[in-house]
Amino acid sequence: MAVREIVQYRENEAVLRKKSQPVKHVTRQVKKLVQDLKDTLNDCADGIGLAAPQIGVHSRVVVVQLGGEQDDEGNAREPPPLTALINPQIVEAGDEKKDFDGCLSFPGLYGETVRPHRLRVTGLDEAGEHFERLFEGFDAVVVHHEIDHLDGVLFIDHVESVEDLYQVCEDENGQLVREPVTDSTFPTACCTKKWSRAHFNVGCSPAAGEGGKEGFHRH
Ligand SMILES: [Zn+2]
Repeated sequence: MAVREIVQYRENEAVLRKKSQPVKHVTRQVKKLVQDLKDTLNDCADGIGLAAPQIGVHSRVVVVQLGGEQDDEGNAREPPPLTALINPQIVEAGDEKKDFDGCLSFPGLYGETVRPHRLRVTGLDEAGEHFERLFEGFDAVVVHHEIDHLDGVLFIDHVESVEDLYQVCEDENGQLVREPVTDSTFPTACCTKKWSRAHFNVGCSPAAGEGGKEGFHRH
């Protein structure tokens, strides 16, 4: 078990902007990287995706939490195990719309971005087997966000205007409040406190995206 430190945009943008290289073979070292990504993501209460460059490794490997949102009746669903995607490549993308976005490298900062809600991806799984998978809805958003990280693209690059960004901060009464981000405060003003999903569900009205997402997840 190795929980790694997550690279923060404010401290080290260059690491997050560097393009990652394809994995040649799924070696023991790559499997260790997958495990470290899973351990680190599992350690983040509100995380639903993590890419290798976010722990300072420039290999094309991501892990994602898929389908753990709500069932058809709106009840919280037990999320399935984390999925690793190695050398993920988008072969088809569609159904673009605006949805909720956030990132573990940007504590306290959230936004609305336009991303595909239908994404067909090829790559290798963690056993080194080739896969082709179709991701739909918010799963497609999460996978798209993570693949972006491998090319040094960050969620703030997809935000159409600064009005689509907001911070979650604590007010004088200890309540979590949503505050606008201005050009002058972004991105240095965002909170550094590590928010847990429980905090969000108690203190804030959720940013309801296209899929009616609850809480503030980050990738
Ligand atoms: Zn991210």
